[in-house]
Amino acid sequence: RTRGSQDLIRAEEPVLAHNYHPLPVVVARAEGTWVEDVEGRRYLDMLAGYSALNFGHRHPALIEAAHRQLDRLTLTSRAFHNDRLAEFAERLAALTGMDMVLPMNTGAEAVESGVKVARKWAYDVKGVPADRATIVVAADNFHGRTTTIVSFSTDETARQGFGPFTPGFRIVPYNDLAALEAAVDETTAAVLIEPIQGEAGVIIPDEGYLAGVRELTRRKGCLFVADEIQSGLGRTGSTLAVEYESVVPDVVLLGKALGGGIVPVSAVVARREVLGVLHPGEHGSTFGGNPLAAAVGTAVVELLETGEFQRRATELGGVLRDGLTGLVGKGVVGFRSRGLWAGVDIDPALGTGREISERLMREGILVKDTHGSTIRLAPPLTITDEELEDALGSLEKVLR
Ligand code: PLP
Repeated sequence: RTRGSQDLIRAEEPVLAHNYHPLPVVVARAEGTWVEDVEGRRYLDMLAGYSALNFGHRHPALIEAAHRQLDRLTLTSRAFHNDRLAEFAERLAALTGMDMVLPMNTGAEAVESGVKVARKWAYDVKGVPADRATIVVAADNFHGRTTTIVSFSTDETARQGFGPFTPGFRIVPYNDLAALEAAVDETTAAVLIEPIQGEAGVIIPDEGYLAGVRELTRRKGCLFVADEIQSGLGRTGSTLAVEYESVVPDVVLLGKALGGGIVPVSAVVARREVLGVLHPGEHGSTFGGNPLAAAVGTAVVELLETGEFQRRATELGGVLRDGLTGLVGKGVVGFRSRGLWAGVDIDPALGTGREISERLMREGILVKDTHGSTIRLAPPLTITDEELEDALGSLEKVLR
């Protein structure tokens, strides 16, 4: 007997850790911008796996690359070479304008690896005394869930009960160059920030902030590490969100969409002077750089090389911005957007972000609240003009 949605939701309750609070929809299949639940109801996916599905569900080129690789070789571990990794690294480095790639799996692992590499660089290249390196981060950041990463979170829910924490991090307000200037000193290995803070509610820094971070880190002799795990790979209308200010960081962290929504693929990409600090035995991952991941990752890079998705994000981003502008004062109190990515603040009198998300779900639109009365819109970059207009129409309807 096949189980219905309510049955499956109830069945999860006693056997799954409660670390998420999903909307009550049970997805069974998907294609492009659409998902279908167990009962065959269709929903427009306006979250896209927190930007892991930038190319939509089951993009034909990505599925084909995965199938082809599944039929040939899936895993070697890095104990041996595999015939897919060189091309993946070459093309990813070229796409991002960097020299070297450290392949990992999840976003949090890329961040952890970036932290380790920055510290190693501080000791080996900059000459910081042993175990004294500091990393400066921004308040309201989201970089993942490991013990070290939550050590420099400012979200008490993410931290409470998980100490003791990793030392060596300094937290300054986001979008505040003066605070950054004061926090960076001779022990600083890196400044680690999101070019746009995603989980915080798609918080876009003032014009000049990213260029300012670049100038400051260069002048003070520390690394600029950009966490582009959510903002990167086309979402904002360019390959990397830092391109908006024509900024080139020293280290870029990628994840989510790098795996095409098929397999977890993340990477630290950096200049040779930085990633060159790692030697055999100093860092690793059983699955990092596996041939299936490399094949899918290469196909993702290939899609981005065309520029089509960046262009779509820019063009449709205009439609999204216009639509949201029209809703300001009609239930929307404010919004921030770049490309196909928006944080929308709903009038709290109309409901929490969660309640708005549930109402949209009943209209066949899937979104997720970030916190309070803010919802995030981040559809696949393959969304059509019509689908986007439909989603905006549904938002208008549930706010009436
Ligand atoms: N960094 C940023 C900016 C993110 O948005 C996320 C996930 O939302 C992560 C890191 C962590 O990625 P993962 O959930 O794959 O560990």
